[in-house]
Amino acid sequence: PATPASMDAFWMPFTANRQFRRTPRLLAAAEGMYYRDVEGRQILDGTAGLWCCNAGHARPRIVEAIARQAATMDFAPHFQMGSPLPFELAARLKELAPRPLDHVFFTNSGSESVDTALKIAIAWHRARGEGQRTRLIGREKAYHGVGFGGFSVGGLPNNRKWFGPGLPGVDHMRHTLDIARNAFSRGLPAHGVELAEDLERLVQLHDPSTIAAVIVEPISGSAGVILPPPGYLKRLREICDRYGILLIFDEVITGFGRVGAPFAAQRFEVTPDMMTVAKGLTSGCVPMGAVFVSDRVHEAFMQGPEGAIDLFHGYTYSGHPLACAAALATLDTYAEEGLLARALELEDYWADGLHGLRSSNPGIIDIRNYGLIGAIELAPQDGAPGARGYQVLERAFRKGLLVRTTGDTIALSPPLIVERQHIDDMFSMLGEVLATV
Ligand code: PMP
Repeated sequence: PATPASMDAFWMPFTANRQFRRTPRLLAAAEGMYYRDVEGRQILDGTAGLWCCNAGHARPRIVEAIARQAATMDFAPHFQMGSPLPFELAARLKELAPRPLDHVFFTNSGSESVDTALKIAIAWHRARGEGQRTRLIGREKAYHGVGFGGFSVGGLPNNRKWFGPGLPGVDHMRHTLDIARNAFSRGLPAHGVELAEDLERLVQLHDPSTIAAVIVEPISGSAGVILPPPGYLKRLREICDRYGILLIFDEVITGFGRVGAPFAAQRFEVTPDMMTVAKGLTSGCVPMGAVFVSDRVHEAFMQGPEGAIDLFHGYTYSGHPLACAAALATLDTYAEEGLLARALELEDYWADGLHGLRSSNPGIIDIRNYGLIGAIELAPQDGAPGARGYQVLERAFRKGLLVRTTGDTIALSPPLIVERQHIDDMFSMLGEVLATV
């Protein structure tokens, strides 16, 4: 399959593909906790695909639901008609989400969810006669996907620097890592408050009545798993409330059980005005994203003689029947198997195993965990940042373990069906690999 010609034809997404061209790692099948590569070797999935396959792979209930829906009705147009499936799915999702995030808009990806939420924020202020509120605030090191809005509020240089200035009127707050690495085990509530004051600084830098929304990942994933210091998210909420700014949580990674609750908003006890999700919504089976919107945001759009303002935003595949069928079967699987609480049940066991790796390599400078998320940060090799991270990925794959690396940080996020034995296997393989780099 991966002949030089076919590799040229497919422009692989993201970067780091020079290494792939040298050593193609091609996955051919997946079931439960395991992938199988094209040579038939079994590989334990330490990352739930890309933080998405939370129910594990090829779960029969989900597979059958997709097949059944494909045979029944492939697609339904939206204008003045539709399929009942997105209505049913939205009602189910509303039961999972924190109140008052009672309204759901469907997209096809995390990036689309983020762009949608940013547009809704600006339009919402306008609908309330505050059209001057167009500024958006993100964070340094944040990842919010690759749409024009998402990269603009994001803060990872490689995602921004090639594409010009992005959206106008965007600022970035400082990031947690600068103050308190692994803040949950070592950070103090004072760190959270101090860090959140950076939002106050940006608000004061501008006229507060020009700011539409603040967007943050409750736990940053793509920047290498960075946890918020205690009290940080609560303080952001307070500052947003004080100035009439909408708060958006990007829960594309943290949503659907990854942190031991349906959403991080519930575990951190801070409710945003909007929440963006994707990935775990369909357990990675079919592309789908969503934006959860609070009552007060939704109500502003439901004014006017026709019951709605003349706002146009939507995708051909918003609420696609196949995606809805996959999401409904995924939610059934989560509920029946108690998967949305699983990360909480396993959190201590997971943390013990993860922190037990510290002695495997003197170059480990930090280990972070929360729910079923783990990160091991290695000191970079002189003059070759990312080289040790890549070595770990390469050698772990050869041993039969899939990990994700961001530079020299190894990130882990197994499917939520993970058993203790898988966790033991994972850390045993990783320990052996870490000892060699
Ligand atoms: N937001 C966050 C927090 C993400 O982690 C990601 C993807 N890793 C995205 C948005 C973008 O999602 P997608 O790749 O589905 O567009």
